[in-house]
Amino acid sequence: MTDLINEKNYRDFRAKLEPKQVRLIAVSKYSSDEQVEAMSRLGQKDFGESRPQLLRDRALAFPDLNWHMIGPLQKNKAKYIGRHADIWHSLSDIDVAKAVAKYVENRQLPVLIQLNISGESQKSGVPLAQLNEFVDQVRQIPELKLIGLMGMASKEGDIRSQFAALRRLRDAQEDEKIRELCMGMSGDWKVAVEEGATMVRIGRALFQSGDYK
Ligand SMILES: *Cc1c(COP(=O)(O)O)cnc(C)c1O
Repeated sequence: MTDLINEKNYRDFRAKLEPKQVRLIAVSKYSSDEQVEAMSRLGQKDFGESRPQLLRDRALAFPDLNWHMIGPLQKNKAKYIGRHADIWHSLSDIDVAKAVAKYVENRQLPVLIQLNISGESQKSGVPLAQLNEFVDQVRQIPELKLIGLMGMASKEGDIRSQFAALRRLRDAQEDEKIRELCMGMSGDWKVAVEEGATMVRIGRALFQSGDYK
């Protein structure tokens, strides 16, 4: 079990994040079911996937865990997310959102809008300047419940100002239900938490060897 997952880093993350009430999402996209199982035995409940079918498979295999969709999504895979995701973090296209909503039954699906905080054209996410208009469109879909904003910083450059910009956009929302800030990964979680993240998405640091402090 010790070499299935990085137990030491996992415990360090919990010790650092829990006092700040930051939710740790263990990104299991490169990991096996055995690794998910091992991490859940340590008490981990929240897992992130970027591929819709794999999220569906794991949500069915591990129904007691929470499954977070964090990757790009196309309309033809919408059913996997509408039916099986506990939270959808990467909403950035209103037509895809409507397609997902069709498969949401007997609940509201909590969603975050993914913003393109790095400004890089190849990165997904809604451009910052279009956020308010986009928020209005999402709020017209009754099956979805907008709870926050998500962003990925660039690999290099001023990541702190990218996270800070996301926080300011969240702070500017008048709707009090829009309060989650999902930002930070293995390489930049520390800055993200300093800038107010309420959730971080950590993959490599939890499932592979190496230090990420
Ligand atoms: C893979 C992935 C992560 C986790 O990245 P690590 O560097 O392995 O921590 C976080 N967020 C998204 C959207 C991802 O696709």
